[in-house]
Amino acid sequence: MTDFKEMGLSEALLQGIAALGFETPTPIQQQVIPVALQSDDDIVALAQTGTGKTAAFGLPLLQRIRPEDKHVQAVVLCPTRELCVQVTNDLANYTRFAERYKVVAVYGGASIETQIRQIRSGAHIIVATPGRLVDLLVRQAVALDKVSRVVLDEADEMLNMGFRDAVDLILEAAENRQSLWLFSATMPDEVRAIADTYMRKPVEIGVATRQQANADIEHAYYICRPEHRYDALKRVVDAHPGIYGLVFCRTRAETKEIAEQMIRDGYNADALHGDLSQSDRDRVMQRFRERHLQLLVATDVAARGIDVSDISHVINYGLPDEPEVYIHRAGRTGRAGRKGVSISIITPKMEERIRLIERRARITFARKPIPTGPEVCERQLFHIIQNIREQEVQRDQIAPFLPQIFEALRDLSKEELIERFASTEFNRFLAYYRNAADINVGSHRQRGDRPSHGERAQAAGSAAQQRLFINVGHMDGIQKKDLLSLLINEFRIPKHAIGKVDVKRTHTLLDIDVAFMRDVRRGLEAFDVNGRRIRVNEDNGPSHDKAPRDKKKKRHSKTPVALF
Ligand code: AMP
Repeated sequence: MTDFKEMGLSEALLQGIAALGFETPTPIQQQVIPVALQSDDDIVALAQTGTGKTAAFGLPLLQRIRPEDKHVQAVVLCPTRELCVQVTNDLANYTRFAERYKVVAVYGGASIETQIRQIRSGAHIIVATPGRLVDLLVRQAVALDKVSRVVLDEADEMLNMGFRDAVDLILEAAENRQSLWLFSATMPDEVRAIADTYMRKPVEIGVATRQQANADIEHAYYICRPEHRYDALKRVVDAHPGIYGLVFCRTRAETKEIAEQMIRDGYNADALHGDLSQSDRDRVMQRFRERHLQLLVATDVAARGIDVSDISHVINYGLPDEPEVYIHRAGRTGRAGRKGVSISIITPKMEERIRLIERRARITFARKPIPTGPEVCERQLFHIIQNIREQEVQRDQIAPFLPQIFEALRDLSKEELIERFASTEFNRFLAYYRNAADINVGSHRQRGDRPSHGERAQAAGSAAQQRLFINVGHMDGIQKKDLLSLLINEFRIPKHAIGKVDVKRTHTLLDIDVAFMRDVRRGLEAFDVNGRRIRVNEDNGPSHDKAPRDKKKKRHSKTPVALF
C-alpha cells in the first residue's frame, strides 16, 4: 500500500493532512491521487460520500496550482451550497501549512457582489454550484479560459437536480482545461453521457461500487402497517438510546410532519428541507453537527451536503424508489472506519423493494421485530445505568452541596438509592409504554383492540403471511406444542411471525410470515419422522381443508390468530 508520502504530495500538504489525523490513504485516494498528480488524464471515479473523495481530488488539485499566477486555475462544481462550503473548508484545512492559495466558494442565496469581489482579488480555485457560476459567467464577472482542471463532485446529484445545461455551459467556458475529474456515487446514463461528451479515454476508478457496498454498515428493516409507521419510528429510536441519526423522508411535507411530531413528542429533532431559508438550514446543520440535535429529519436533496462522520444510524422512513438512493443514504453512516446501522421502517408492500436492493447492491438485510414496550424500557434502563456509571463528576462544583444531599438521603439504603436514581428517567418510559401494543405485522392485538375497516383492507392487501402444508400430522405423533417449540427455540422464528398452526391427522397447516418461510422450510425438511422425510410446500389452494377458494383466501389474509 502506498502511503501519502510516497504519492509525491508536498511537505506542506502532508503536514496539513497529518494535522487532520489522516494516516493512511483511503482506497479512492490511493487510486486517484497518483494519476491526478502526475498526468493530465481525465478521471471518472465512482465514489460515495464518506470514501475520502474530497481529499482524493482536493490534494492533487491544490498541489498543481501555481500560487504566483493570480487567476482562476481550477473549478470544483458541487450540487449544493452545503457541499461547496464543506469542500472549501476541507481545501483550507489541507493547506493550513502551505502557501496561501485563494479558494472562493460561490453559491446562490449569498451576495453575488461579495463573491465577485473575492474572485477579482485573485482566486486560484472556485468551488461553485453550477447555477451561480453560470450567473457569474453571464455577468462576465469570471473568466474560465485559463482553468486547467475542472472537478465535478457528486455528478449524479448535480444532474438529478437539473444542472445539465449549466454544467455544459461551464465546461464550454473552461474549454482550455487539461483535465476533467468526475466523481459520482452512481453511474447512470446521464453521468456516462458527460464522460462520453467531454472526456478522452478517461482513467476509470471504481471504488465503493454497487458490488462493494460499505461492509461497516449493517442493514436492518422493520415491518408494520402504514398507520403504525410513526409509532414504529419512535420505538426504534427509543430502543437505541445513544442514537445520533439522520431520518430520511420522501417528501418535504413528510419531513416537516415527522420532525414536528417528534419535537412535540419530546425528541431532540429538527427538519432539513428545501422550504427552509438558507440561514435556517445553516442553523439546523450547525446544531446537528454540534450534537445539540440527536435526530435530523431530512429529504434526500437537503441532506446532500451533510458531512458528519460519526452518524450512528440512518433511518429510512419508507424506502426510496431507487436502490442507488438507498445505498447513498446508508452511506451517511459507517464512515471513517466506524460501524453504522441503516434502518428501514417499511410496510409489507415495500418488502419486495428490500429484495431488489439486496440483489442490486449485493447486501443483506436482517428483518428485526419492532421492539415491544417492555423491550424499549429494558434498553432505556440499562442505558441509564451505563450513563450513571460513566457520569463525569465535577467534584469541586458539587462538593459544597454534598453534606446537605447526604443528609437528605441519609435514611435510604444503597439499594433504595439505586432504585430511585434509576427510576428518575425510567418512569417516563414505563408510563409511556405501559399499554403499548405490539405493532409488528403478524403480531397479536391487545384484547379488545379490534382491527379497523382500513386495517382489515390493508391486511387483506398484504402478503405478509403464507400458509405452509407440512406432510406430517397427529398420525405421525406431531403435536402443536412440540412444533411451536421447535420453531421458536430451535429455528429462532420470532413468535410474532407465527400465525395459525393446525395439526390435522395426516398433515399440518402453518401460517408464517413470508420473511421466515425459507428458514422454516429449510429447518423442517432436515427432519425425518418414522423414516419419512418431512416435506414443506406452499399451500395456496383449497384442497387441504376443503374450504372454497375465495373463503379460504379471506381467512388467510386475516390478522393472524394469537397463539400465546
Ligand atoms: P469525504 O468522502 O471526502 O466526504 O470524506 C469523508 C470523511 O473522511 C471526512 O470527514 C474526511 O475528513 C475523512 N477522511 C478522508 N480521508 C481520510 C483519511 N485518509 N484518513 C482518515 N480520514 C479521512
